[in-house]
Amino acid sequence: MTRRNHDIAELKRLDVAHHLPAQSSYKLQRDIGGSRIIVHAEGSTIFDGDGNAILDGMAGLWCVDVGYGRAELAEVAREQMLELPFYNTFFRTATPPPIELAAKLAGLLGGDLQHIFFNSSGSESNDTVFRLVRTYWGIKGEPERKVFISRRNAYHGSTVAGASLGGMSYMHVQGDLPIPGVEHVMQPYVFGDGFDEDPADFCARAVQDIEDRILAVGPEKVAAFIGEPVQGAGGVIIPPDGYWKGVEAVCRKYGILLVSDEVICGFGRLGEWFGFQHFGITPDIVSMAKGLSSGYMPISATAVSSDIVETLRSVDDDFVHGYTYSGHPVAAAVALRNIEIIEREKLVDRVRDDIGPYFAKALAKLSDHPLVGEARSLGFIGAIEIVARKGTNRRFGGKEGLAGPIVRDACIGRGLMVRAVRDSLVMCPPYVMTHEEIDRMVSIIAAALDETS
Ligand code: PLP
Repeated sequence: MTRRNHDIAELKRLDVAHHLPAQSSYKLQRDIGGSRIIVHAEGSTIFDGDGNAILDGMAGLWCVDVGYGRAELAEVAREQMLELPFYNTFFRTATPPPIELAAKLAGLLGGDLQHIFFNSSGSESNDTVFRLVRTYWGIKGEPERKVFISRRNAYHGSTVAGASLGGMSYMHVQGDLPIPGVEHVMQPYVFGDGFDEDPADFCARAVQDIEDRILAVGPEKVAAFIGEPVQGAGGVIIPPDGYWKGVEAVCRKYGILLVSDEVICGFGRLGEWFGFQHFGITPDIVSMAKGLSSGYMPISATAVSSDIVETLRSVDDDFVHGYTYSGHPVAAAVALRNIEIIEREKLVDRVRDDIGPYFAKALAKLSDHPLVGEARSLGFIGAIEIVARKGTNRRFGGKEGLAGPIVRDACIGRGLMVRAVRDSLVMCPPYVMTHEEIDRMVSIIAAALDETS
């Protein structure tokens, strides 16, 4: 493959002149003279236009699970484009790839989750959840069940419904969100909110908060609870033991649908195909995206239980929801091949038995650093908490913290891409990362912390 030669200075100029990147400050974009431009990637390494090789501790945006440079994914896209680049799945038409992918996903999900609706992004998947759940309750004869319970600091996307379901207050400011019918309860953030508490007591308190809110709203008005098995964008919040079983029991007690947002946790991230399998629960709906195609094509999926499908099938009405690109044949073909790679290379086992434990051990070395309050991971996702005083959960500069972005920038400068969430650094690397690269990631973080102390 011949790589294109880019005029980076010109691209940066055009970036400022014409391009509005996602989730960005346009003032900062202009002030720094344009975005960082990534031009190429291979394995677990990205290369920017200034010639820097950067180890990607974030798998792009929590998604490039099989790593960069997979020629067979490009080939399968090419073949599908030549055979049939597009046909829609509206009005009872379909093409082969989404049908085959739905059957494949049904096998991986198991149990009662045997039907799949396709979208192009995690946000759209959660919009589908929003309309599907309310439609379901309407058909069931309980149209007053409209309320969704979510957690503060959750991330469920950036569309109006996705950002409303999400619990990030700064995302609610723009656009006057959340829309009515979403209630946010406490997150199971042991380090942040249960620091001095016995973990079992904290867990019981977090589950109780959900039940209290259901009772306050009125159980007959609550439609669903939605949560990420491990909150990713909120800072890799790993719930305490027993939390998810507790949430499931509360949902069952009040007949509330349980939605697992697996956009990050799905496809092996926690060492099982899906996060709900790791936590031993049975959701009614599963949202997935990102690792579904390892980010090679935009595609997401919403899996639903047979009860939901049978309910929709009990009426003649169309489910009047869907996108032009629902079940896009090229995206579905790429996703199928991506899953085949994960299976063939036993990447889920690799996360659970090899790189997951190796990563946990490597991260644990950072626990001794005077600025680190906690280093935690599950499978191949993790975080470190930066604290102003060892032995506490006190941040630099107050609750939100100031140190995270400084340490993140120091990491990038040393050749490692990580993200800062408040005063924590989060990591979600590709499953192909080697032991040597994991060691390098941790030593760069240690050096960046030293530089900051
Ligand atoms: N849900 C979760 C758990 C996510 O982490 C994300 C994105 O990070 C989304 C939904 C939204 O996905 P997208 O950005 O593809 O719309």
